[in-house]
Amino acid sequence: MMRVAQISAPKANFEIVERPMPEPTPGTIRIKVAACGICHSDALVKEGLWPGLQYPRVPGHEIAGTVDALGTGVQGWKPGQLVGVGWHGGYCGRCEPCRRGNLFACATQQVTGISFDGGYGEYMLAPASAVAKLPDEMPAIDAAPLLCAGITTFNALRNSPARPGDLVAVLGLGGLGHLGVQYAAKAGFRVAAIARGKEKESLACQLGASHYIDSLTQDPASELQKLGGASVILATVTVGDAMNATIGGLAVNGTLLVIGAPPSLEITPFTLIGAQRSLKGWYSGTSIDSEDTLAFSARAGVHSMNEVFTLDRVAEAYDRMASGKARFRVVLAMN
Ligand SMILES: [Zn+2]
Ligand SMILES: [Zn+2]
Repeated sequence: MMRVAQISAPKANFEIVERPMPEPTPGTIRIKVAACGICHSDALVKEGLWPGLQYPRVPGHEIAGTVDALGTGVQGWKPGQLVGVGWHGGYCGRCEPCRRGNLFACATQQVTGISFDGGYGEYMLAPASAVAKLPDEMPAIDAAPLLCAGITTFNALRNSPARPGDLVAVLGLGGLGHLGVQYAAKAGFRVAAIARGKEKESLACQLGASHYIDSLTQDPASELQKLGGASVILATVTVGDAMNATIGGLAVNGTLLVIGAPPSLEITPFTLIGAQRSLKGWYSGTSIDSEDTLAFSARAGVHSMNEVFTLDRVAEAYDRMASGKARFRVVLAMN
């Protein structure tokens, strides 16, 4: 038997239940979960915001653990190997987006902890195509948040038009932003962190920012222009007006890269037209992007700051994440 934390209906509380260990089905890997991060997107399960979601469901898509057993047809993995699973729940390799190389956009739209049970439990099954290899030296608690918050910021930045030496702004200094600043600095960009209040300045500088803009007392757009204009603004916040207030700080041909998800985003078209600026979203990435994120993080010394809870305290841990007060990611440790 194994213990998992499940949600049995929209808006229900977490219940810790015992279930039989799942037998790996063809093409899947059974993972012994060591740690699982709690992400804002887990509210999609908890609050019933994902159309057609089947309950009961075990949430969790920031999973670090070890390979426990292989389903038939799975090759290239062996029991005991350190692995992780993120938001992307695997791809089929046969649909049109897959055949065009856009594996992230696979028509099956599998999402970990939504389409199948995720990592808030001792064991889980994951499609082999969703599984990423983790660096040997990295503890599971450190690795887990990098599989969603980490990959999302790292993969967005490395696929952006910014080049080493360019000014990159990171809007927001929460779970995503505190990683975004570190990745941007380690990648060789000049980094401007934008957040509310003076008290976050020293943290931003510790994380590698060379400039700090307090959006409560300063205008982010004109401050960025004084620095020459940003090639890219990585927008991690969930407030549309805060994003809009930065667009004027983009350099000519600059890009506002949207990875935070406000309910809506209103922009003034002329701020785009006049300097040929772009607005672009970024999906987190697939399992190979997770491997690259974790390998870079280990090599460059990028760390998520975490608050750790045991599985028994899942409800408290989730509330802590939802409060927005966690510094900076909340992680469940399984033992
Ligand atoms: Zn997430
Ligand atoms: Zn596909």
